[in-house]
Amino acid sequence: MDMKIANHQLKDDDLLSFDFKTPNMSGKFANGLPDTLVIHFTAGSSAESSARHLCKPSAKASAHLVVGRDGKVYQLAPFNRVAWHAGRSTWKDRSGLNQYAIGIEIDNAGQLTDNGNGFYQTWFGKNLPVSEVFHGRHRNQSEPSYWHAYTEPQIARVFELCELLIDHYGITEIVGHEEIAPGRKVDPGPAFPLDKLRDQLLGDTRDQDAPAPKPASKEVIVNASQLNIRKGPSTSFQTVAAPLEQGTRVRTLNKEDGWVEVEYCIRGWVSGQYLKAPD
Ligand SMILES: [Zn+2]
Repeated sequence: MDMKIANHQLKDDDLLSFDFKTPNMSGKFANGLPDTLVIHFTAGSSAESSARHLCKPSAKASAHLVVGRDGKVYQLAPFNRVAWHAGRSTWKDRSGLNQYAIGIEIDNAGQLTDNGNGFYQTWFGKNLPVSEVFHGRHRNQSEPSYWHAYTEPQIARVFELCELLIDHYGITEIVGHEEIAPGRKVDPGPAFPLDKLRDQLLGDTRDQDAPAPKPASKEVIVNASQLNIRKGPSTSFQTVAAPLEQGTRVRTLNKEDGWVEVEYCIRGWVSGQYLKAPD
């Protein structure tokens, strides 16, 4: 599978449907935009019916992409045009996220009602078996509830599309509709791995400037009758004090090549094989 973007359109004949074009969009994004992706669920009964709906002028709503449960992708608007998916929305110092973001709709019925007979009902009255149900707590709700599960091919396709869009447009932010319109919207909901998507695709760039984590300091006990303590992590370094006695409690600071920097009343390096955890 080799998906590309050319002239703000996805290219992959096997994967894409070109049957739908939405009139529900504004002009081009401003320079340097889009830089954000907004993830949605359709709350519809099929990707095709949702795509069809979002292309009706009366819907006054759209998205750039709709992703089916089989991983098929419908592109309704070119990526350089502002589509109408976010509505009233705010994120950090921005409002009206349509001006900043590509909208990705995922075919999913949304929140479900427990019928008590082994089936779970969508808002449009379809009964789903437990195999299609996700039970979990929404980030904006206090109690867990039932949600339509996303399919594996669908989640994999969304990850792939996001990665492609990040590379092509320099996207720096991925948000859920539920995060930018929390009083009004619950999509994509807890069944979608939104935090994992962000960690996996944006985590590297976000953490780049953070220093490498230091090993946690802990208390250990000298486990040799006499243990030389040195200025550095090898026998070529001079000792800094008389050898440590068996049973001395020290705190670890750093580790390197089997050597451990420790601290008691002085600081220096000892061979790590002669340290043990406290009993
Ligand atoms: Zn939405």
